[in-house]
Amino acid sequence: MAFIVAIDGPAGSGKGTITKLVGEKLGLINIDTGAMFRCVTLEMLKKNIRIDEEEKIKELLDKINIDMVGGQQELQIFLNGEDVSKKIREKEVNDFVSSVSTLKVVREKLLGLQRKIAEGKNVIMEGRDIGTVVFPNADVKIYLDATPEERAIRRVKQNMEKGITTSYEEALQNVKKRDEIDSKREIAPLKKAKDAIYINSTELTIEDEVRRIVDIIEKVKNK
Ligand code: C5P
Repeated sequence: MAFIVAIDGPAGSGKGTITKLVGEKLGLINIDTGAMFRCVTLEMLKKNIRIDEEEKIKELLDKINIDMVGGQQELQIFLNGEDVSKKIREKEVNDFVSSVSTLKVVREKLLGLQRKIAEGKNVIMEGRDIGTVVFPNADVKIYLDATPEERAIRRVKQNMEKGITTSYEEALQNVKKRDEIDSKREIAPLKKAKDAIYINSTELTIEDEVRRIVDIIEKVKNK
C-alpha cells in the first residue's frame, strides 16, 4: 500500500534538504512541489505572460511537462525536457513565484499532477499545502519551521552552493514577503495541518532533524 509523508513549512525552513535525506534513508520517492510552482513561473517569465492573462496561462499549463530525477546529488528538475534546476532558484523566479501560486488555474493543475505522481507509491512530498489539501490523509505530517533570520541565512548558503549570489538582506526580504503571500492567500494557504507534528529547526542540526523525523515515520510504519 502507498505510504505518504507530507512535509510542509515556510520558505527556507529546510524542507528540501530534510526531505531528500529522509527519503534516501527510508526509500521514499522525493517530490518537491515548490519546484513545480517554480517551473510554471519560469515558463510564464520566458513567455512574458502576466498574472491576469488566464487564457495564456491555461494554454501554457496544457503543454507543460515537469520531471523530477532523484539521485545521489540534488533532485534535478526538467521543464519540457530542459534541466532548469538552477534557473528556477534565481531571483526573477523567487520574486514572482508566490503571486503565480495564488492562481486557481495553476493550483488546480498542479494538485492533479501531484496526486498523480504519488499514485500507488511510497513518497515524501514537500510544499505548503501537502498535509492540508493535497494529501489530507497522509500517513505522517510534519510542519517544519525556523525563524525568518535563520531561514534567510540558509537560503544564502544554499544558493551559494548552486552558484547563485544572494545577499542576506535580499534573502530575508524575499522569505518574509513569500511567507506573507503564501499564508494569506485564499486557496490552500500555508498553515500547519491540525494533526501535523510541529518541529522548530532553528537550533537543530540537520542530523538531529533527520533522526527525529525518521523516528516519527518508523513509529507510524511499525504500528
Ligand atoms: O518550496 P519553495 O520555496 O521552492 O516554493 C516556492 C513557492 O511555491 C512558495 O513560496 C509558494 O508560493 C509556492 N508553493 C505553494 N504550494 C506548495 C509548494 C510551493 O504554493 N505546495
